[in-house]
Amino acid sequence: MRAQVLHQWGGEVTSEEVSTPSPGPGEALVKVEACGVGLTVLNCMKGNMSQRPEDLPRIPGHEAVGRVVAVGAAVESPRMGERVLAYFYLFCGACDLCRAAHEPLCRNLRGNVGVACDGGYAEYLKLPAENLLPVPEGVSPVAATAIPDAIATPLHVSRRAGIGPSDVVMVVGAGGGVGIHMVQMARLFGADVVAVDRAEDKLKAVRDLGARAAVDFHSPDIAAALRSVAPAGISVAVDFVGTRETLAFCLEHLGRRGRLVLLTTFPGVATEVAPRLMVREELSILGSRYASRWEVSEAARLVAERKITPVVSETVELARVGELHAKLRAGTLLGRGAIAF
Ligand SMILES: [Zn+2]
Repeated sequence: MRAQVLHQWGGEVTSEEVSTPSPGPGEALVKVEACGVGLTVLNCMKGNMSQRPEDLPRIPGHEAVGRVVAVGAAVESPRMGERVLAYFYLFCGACDLCRAAHEPLCRNLRGNVGVACDGGYAEYLKLPAENLLPVPEGVSPVAATAIPDAIATPLHVSRRAGIGPSDVVMVVGAGGGVGIHMVQMARLFGADVVAVDRAEDKLKAVRDLGARAAVDFHSPDIAAALRSVAPAGISVAVDFVGTRETLAFCLEHLGRRGRLVLLTTFPGVATEVAPRLMVREELSILGSRYASRWEVSEAARLVAERKITPVVSETVELARVGELHAKLRAGTLLGRGAIAF
């Protein structure tokens, strides 16, 4: 089969012919129809999630969608022919946290799809059956690539931060793959949204998707703009950029009972927190790690019911995925990209 293969953590993928995998007991084989391309894939390729030499060579891509074409022994679900999407974390299913539907916190985590096992940058993908969840009728394969991470992660954030009516949610990095769906999810949970990003096309897109205001992070009057939208401060800040600069910016603009949600895992990044301010304003800082399988299924339902619009702005064929990587690195891709077969 054709695949894009990574030979070195921190390197770029190359087009290759590799042998098609066959499913063992408890596994299923999927003929890939589309696979999401976003910054998380680039983080995986960089070795930010894990960089064990024994995991190389590796086929990246965790947001895969396709049809089940073969199943191994003892697989009841998914069924042959069913359209499925991939769940990102290789969880055990047996520990206390898995049983409580906190699979990303699994005590026996084996790693991630596209890092510890091959992903969807290929014609076929073999995964444990429990990592394959059904795609609802009426959702196209390309649209579905946004569900398992770019839409499910904002659903987890919204539940974790208790977003609701009367909240003003600030999304930093709002035009990116996860950010653009966070804007929609916060609106769906009843909040007002202030979107922060850089390029004008991204700011316009998030305004069109329901952000009450969209401001340029480098604009000199960004503080004044935020005060005019949220005079009492921001109630939830969601930082998808995760630099020292954006973290300090988010903390500075939180209002009373404000919650800062962290999602990035860049090594070595830290920020200062003043206990005096945290106590006086009752601020909270919350880490948010991916989403449960239930949340991924709920995200799929929200897309099928047209409550969330997947934003996949550009699709390419498998051999041209490097072009999308270049756009992501340059910060010029709106929302998600995808490979389409
Ligand atoms: Zn577990």
